[in-house]
Amino acid sequence: MPFSQPTVIRSRRAVLPDGERPADVLIQGGRIARTAPYGSLAAREGELVDLGDTALLPGLVDTHVHVNEPGRTEWEGFATATRAAAAGGVTTIVDMPLNSIPPTTTVAGLALKRKAADGQAWVDLGFWGGAVPGNLADLEPLHQAGVFGFKSFLAPSGVDEFPHVEAADLEAALAEQARIGALAIIHAEDPAVLAAAPQQPGVHYRDFLASRPADAETAAVARLLDTARRTGARVHVLHVSSAAVLPLLRQAREDGVRVTAETCPHYLTLAAEQVPDGDTAFKCCPPIRDESNRDALWEALGRGEFIAVVSDHSPSTPDLKLLPEYGGSGDFAAAWGGIASLQLGLPAVWTEARRRGHTLADVVRWMSAGPAELVGLTGTKGAIAAGHDADLVAFDPDGGFAVRASGLHHRNPVTPYAGRTLTGAVRATWLRGREVDPAARPFGRQLARPQADPTRFTTATPITTATPIPSERA
Ligand SMILES: [Zn+2]
Repeated sequence: MPFSQPTVIRSRRAVLPDGERPADVLIQGGRIARTAPYGSLAAREGELVDLGDTALLPGLVDTHVHVNEPGRTEWEGFATATRAAAAGGVTTIVDMPLNSIPPTTTVAGLALKRKAADGQAWVDLGFWGGAVPGNLADLEPLHQAGVFGFKSFLAPSGVDEFPHVEAADLEAALAEQARIGALAIIHAEDPAVLAAAPQQPGVHYRDFLASRPADAETAAVARLLDTARRTGARVHVLHVSSAAVLPLLRQAREDGVRVTAETCPHYLTLAAEQVPDGDTAFKCCPPIRDESNRDALWEALGRGEFIAVVSDHSPSTPDLKLLPEYGGSGDFAAAWGGIASLQLGLPAVWTEARRRGHTLADVVRWMSAGPAELVGLTGTKGAIAAGHDADLVAFDPDGGFAVRASGLHHRNPVTPYAGRTLTGAVRATWLRGREVDPAARPFGRQLARPQADPTRFTTATPITTATPIPSERA
């Protein structure tokens, strides 16, 4: 794109809140001033970008990203993660509270995160807090400091400094979050079911899969929903991998429990049958399951049962993945569990969505509008509509490319998508009206939770505004 700050972007395939159509988008002061019929807005030469048949989407909102800085920056840092995000059409990320050291379980930990991210973010950036045993008194100050909610694990997290919650801890954490109006986001696998499952180490994916059965998810979700019923907390189930939890979620919603759920590109686009022996790039928890389960996730997605499709980008260094190509053993049991995909979520999901008869508007609902709604950013993010930030993506829905891990911007060149051919290519990304250029200075802002809580469960939905925190760099 030749111009860094257009005033009109024109596309024959603009995805607006009510569907895809030819449109002009007028940008003023970093925001969308209005949308208009294609070709109807005048602009001086140099201020108009005509995308032709390349689609124009609202920037994606990825509410599930593990950046790992400070403390494990060699796994992933703010600069590398946010460059990957921008290259993949993601204009807002919300960073998970663990795998960095310290974890974001205190206001002091949040301050360190913000300091580490300062001046390094190519996209806008918010933070989740963590609810762990012993930090109940930290939740309200963190909530007031602007975290978007609190993550808890029901089973061991994989890192010692972020312990999981037992039943009594969960009850107390959810009661406190109900009191302060926070959103609880939960890694739902049950430790007792995991402990009883066969533990056979080695390079065979089927053995790893057997060690993390679907029952671990259903048992944990059932326990979570019981606790949510008793406490009245608003809960969100992270990275649903097993379709067996969906009937539980439907029933709870019918009973009035405030529960939402997300799934991830890897559960929708990869399948256990395809995982090569020893290829631990595919290891994540909960695991990628079989093809019939994947089909059931797609059906649920089509019925609107997931509010969001988000990456769960959770890389590590290649040595911790024990990848054979780096001299590792390929042992699924011992390898770090986490998938690196931040830059690839949009084309990965689009490739499979198109094959299954879904539209770009569907993908935008799952990956932009939905996650924006989850974190209360409806009104500024997640839509091409007047008043929203001009966070925009030029996306060629017919462009194809072969994934090379070394060509990706995230820190370590590992991804299970390596070698795949994906359909759909990001051509340009604009953040608040300016094109993101990985070679130039970053201008992402740090976001705080809007003061009005997300209210998708009430009838009156206020327009919320993302509040940049005072120390931001514009
Ligand atoms: Zn995660």
